[in-house]
Amino acid sequence: MSELPIDPATQASSGTATPVEGEAAAQSKKGAKKAEAKAKKEAEKARKAAEREAAAAAKSADGGNEDLAKDNYGDITSTTRIAADKVQLKKFSDEHVGKTVKLRAWIQNARMQGAKMAFVELREVRNWSIQGVIAASAEGTPVSKQMVKWVGALRLESYVLVEATVRKPLEPVKSCRVSDYELHLTKCYLISSGPEVLPLGLNAANRAIASFEDEDPSQPAAPTEAVESLSITESGVAPSASLSTHLNNPAMHKRAPVQQAIADIRMTVRKLFSEYLDWRGFVQFEAPCLIGAASEGGSNVFSLPYFEKQAYLAQSPQFYKQFEIAGGRKRVYCIGPVFRAENSNTPRHMTEFTGLDLEMEIEDHYHEVLEMIECVMLHIFRGLKERCHEEIELVRAIYPAEEFLVPEPGKEVRLTFAEGQKLLREEGPEEYRNVSDDEDMSTPQEKALGALVRKKFGTDFYVLDKFPESARPFYTLEDPANPKVTNAYDFFMRGQEILSGGQRIHVPELLEARLRKKGIDPTSPGIRDYVDVFRSAGVPPHGGGGIGLDRVVAWYLNLPSVHLASYYPRTPKRLTP
Ligand code: ATP
Repeated sequence: MSELPIDPATQASSGTATPVEGEAAAQSKKGAKKAEAKAKKEAEKARKAAEREAAAAAKSADGGNEDLAKDNYGDITSTTRIAADKVQLKKFSDEHVGKTVKLRAWIQNARMQGAKMAFVELREVRNWSIQGVIAASAEGTPVSKQMVKWVGALRLESYVLVEATVRKPLEPVKSCRVSDYELHLTKCYLISSGPEVLPLGLNAANRAIASFEDEDPSQPAAPTEAVESLSITESGVAPSASLSTHLNNPAMHKRAPVQQAIADIRMTVRKLFSEYLDWRGFVQFEAPCLIGAASEGGSNVFSLPYFEKQAYLAQSPQFYKQFEIAGGRKRVYCIGPVFRAENSNTPRHMTEFTGLDLEMEIEDHYHEVLEMIECVMLHIFRGLKERCHEEIELVRAIYPAEEFLVPEPGKEVRLTFAEGQKLLREEGPEEYRNVSDDEDMSTPQEKALGALVRKKFGTDFYVLDKFPESARPFYTLEDPANPKVTNAYDFFMRGQEILSGGQRIHVPELLEARLRKKGIDPTSPGIRDYVDVFRSAGVPPHGGGGIGLDRVVAWYLNLPSVHLASYYPRTPKRLTP
């Protein structure tokens, strides 16, 4: 601030003022006021200049209109690279804190927090998610306000590549599976954008299916339901969707952590099946799907044009397993699709499912086979518990279920069909007081027996042996001691059938006789070739079984439908996607 000018008169004099002196004093007072005003004006000018200067400095620090972070975000290009290390979310630990990492993930949620900060939830795989924070830097780089705005506006389920520093949040982030760490984003590139509106939000996709009434997807779609845009962790807010909506939106259906867990459990069942049988000396083979005759004689076979002829889709690999045994392979198994042209619209049936089939030579008694199948199933149940604990928990959180009970070793439950019926008659619901030993069980009957077995023997897994003759196909051996029943069994999980099997007839004459008894012409197409195999070389006694993989998965988890256990269910109404 400038000093006031010094008045020489004032400076020289002192004491009482004369009239001349008074005039001079008045004049000097006026001057002082003027000077004061001038000084004030100048001070104001200087203040304004300083303000302008500060604003300019701030602007230049921000890059002005220029976005100093423009290379750190935007659509990915063929030359975009992030040098930082890739770390899987499930492997995050304190040793990563402070380090810069890169991650490819889906935007599960994104929101702005004021103009300079945004939060995103990044999901890497299944439900492995982490909170990302992005805040504008004072210098405008590596993160600018524009970049924050862009990240905060990313669409849900977009796929991004980010670079970030790992930090510990002030409090655990409850909404994310990785709750003890967060990512402070310094780069973010959009690999693939989600749509403006998700047809099926992740929240709905990860909830229990609301209705299993599947519509015909070739018909015009009903209005899309369950459009929502919430974090999957805010469950309870989004509505559930029908099976039809799920299946019509395969990407989102499959992104749901529950579906991924089911898929992983399914693959583990397959692996455990092979693993155990390999260990027991079985060899794997591949059976054809295309066959030239409706071999098992049933009407439930799909036919299709095959050049000038007709072909069929195999209803089971039954004959081929037996051909392998005839071909000198002592123990065989195969895993493959099985087709059934049945118009069965139930939660247990599909028109295509995956069969886990095995067949083996019998040395002394067909119970060797039955025991082998028990062992492989118990290996599967034990293996699931050990290897899929996390997946099972995840599924149970959506589809609650009681623990699947398995028998203690050596206490496996094997009832004859007649014993099962007796149990139903004596201890089952009223309507089963008169069930007969000669007729196959209905599904409700099987379920009621399942409940009784659970209560009485503490297991959800058991066998019914010695099925009535009328209930088994022509290749099943009748019990030599009692031809009213067969050397054949079904396996059950939670009161629902998962396997049919038994001893097969390996003597051609016997086979022909049983074919006739069943009203099938032994010389009919497909059948004659089958019978001839047993004539063409001596075939050892053998037996086996066919397990429905979809049902094993569904009933182990107590899912409401087998369609949820299949990757792409095929039903009378559905051939897509
Ligand atoms: P169901 O009486 O339940 O229709 P099924 O007696 O026809 O079955 P099998 O022909 O013995 O069954 O087939 C062996 C196994 O294959 C069954 O125990 C089941 O696990 C599975 N399976 C059979 N049909 C189907 C189907 N349509 N959809 C899914 N799995 C099936």
